[in-house]
Amino acid sequence: MVSTSHATTIASREDRRLRVTTVEHLLAALYALEVNNVRVELDGPEIPAMDGSAAPFVELIRTAGIFEQNVARPTLRVLRPIEVANRGRRIRIEPARNFQVSYTIDFEHPAIRHQAYSIDCLDADSFERELASARTFGFLHEVSALLLAGFARGGSLENTVVLDDERVLNTDGLRWPEEFVRHKMVDLLGDLALLGLPLQGRVEVERGGHELHQMLVQAILRTPDAWSLVGEDPAVPRDLDLTPRSTLPDTR
Ligand SMILES: [Zn+2]
Repeated sequence: MVSTSHATTIASREDRRLRVTTVEHLLAALYALEVNNVRVELDGPEIPAMDGSAAPFVELIRTAGIFEQNVARPTLRVLRPIEVANRGRRIRIEPARNFQVSYTIDFEHPAIRHQAYSIDCLDADSFERELASARTFGFLHEVSALLLAGFARGGSLENTVVLDDERVLNTDGLRWPEEFVRHKMVDLLGDLALLGLPLQGRVEVERGGHELHQMLVQAILRTPDAWSLVGEDPAVPRDLDLTPRSTLPDTR
């Protein structure tokens, strides 16, 4: 993970020039559906935006099918809370019996304001049902800045919920009243996917975004005594690479 400003970019460890951007919705779908061995082929530096949500990727994965391999995969079980706070934003993970996420956002925008959403058992089914279709969103006044930064070249009402100063501009409106916070949860899963392991714990996010999500990932990796790996197959030699995969921040 090398950049967090508006999208997540990953780079090859061997050759930092090899980069793919906007990976988070595809990674969120793979993570939620518990696909950890997969080959993704693309012919450009960016994952296609599709409709701005993770739903088309879920459909592709379902169509391709999931093959269960005969190897135990460990889960990262949280043993004590880890919390990161940054300028009024906060993210925390604490012990829980399964994978849970609770998320709030606050925007000074009349169409968003305060939104909160929680899922107490985040698995493939609840992801598909409650999160996958939530689209990315952006503000009209940001569009020119995004274009300058090289993002959102393909951004349009086809793949983004666009807001002016007062309202949603898409004629079909929203897919859920709280589509914005649901999409933030998709982004969170895409960022947690960089851990490479399923989580057993409760994640709570206040006013989150990619940068805060990545701060939690880094904090988890830095605090190995706050979690344990469960379900490891002792017959399989451990080849997990739990060193941080990137440096932070490299934001624009
Ligand atoms: Zn997103």
